Amino acid sequence: MNARDLTGPSAPTSSSGSLGLVGMVVAVDGTSGSGKSSTCRGVADRLGLSYLDTGAMFRAVTWWMLSQGVDVHDAAAVAARCHEPVLLAGTDPTDSTISVDGIDVAVQIRSDEVNAAVSPVSTVPEVRTRLLDLQRAIITEHTTAGGIVVEGRDIGSVVWPQAQVKVYLTADPAARAARRALEAGGGDVSATEASLRERDRIDSGRATAPLVMADGAAQLDTTSYTLDEVIGLLAGLVESAAQEVR
Ligand code: C5P
Repeated sequence: MNARDLTGPSAPTSSSGSLGLVGMVVAVDGTSGSGKSSTCRGVADRLGLSYLDTGAMFRAVTWWMLSQGVDVHDAAAVAARCHEPVLLAGTDPTDSTISVDGIDVAVQIRSDEVNAAVSPVSTVPEVRTRLLDLQRAIITEHTTAGGIVVEGRDIGSVVWPQAQVKVYLTADPAARAARRALEAGGGDVSATEASLRERDRIDSGRATAPLVMADGAAQLDTTSYTLDEVIGLLAGLVESAAQEVR
């Protein structure tokens, strides 16, 4: 594996401006709660890029399965129905939207029920194939009009291996749980940590498109960095990559 350490002596510094970023795809993968969403939104906003949260798409399918009474642990039942929900994922980093069958589910997809069910649903190959097609269509559309930051678990390895920038974010599980609990307005940090660890276990162990660090990805452990620092590091990396191809 070609992992590079973003925090090394040659780590780039951040700057702004979207010049030269047309066609740029930034693939950001990593463990649950490693700061992917906030980082990706921040980078996209700073550089004038679009943003796609593929986790929200898996969450939306999961929410729909639960709302339909489908047993999310029955892979055949999930596979049989996964083509039914109509998904619409927004790409504005300052206003992430996600709807299913015309219903805005941005809040519902963050519930404990969806947290517990999303990884089992995401192991189902038919679900992954359907979302892979949707994700590639959205990315293609945005590479011709501009550039896009895409976050998930398999973006650099499966969805868009040709991405010009690939990053793998991790953080200490306790730090991840503390951040998530804070985002949720308090709550049980140890239960949050158990939930994150369980999702990581299922996501890393599944047969189809498991969570792995993609070849050529730069790894960043965000535990001891502020959000602004991580955004700065990643934005700098994107601008360096853009200069290389200019
Ligand atoms: O990123 P987020 O934590 O919202 O993702 C929720 C879940 O969706 C993950 O735990 C994983 O099971 C699934 N997922 C995936 N592949 C992606 C993005 C998310 O399997 N590209």
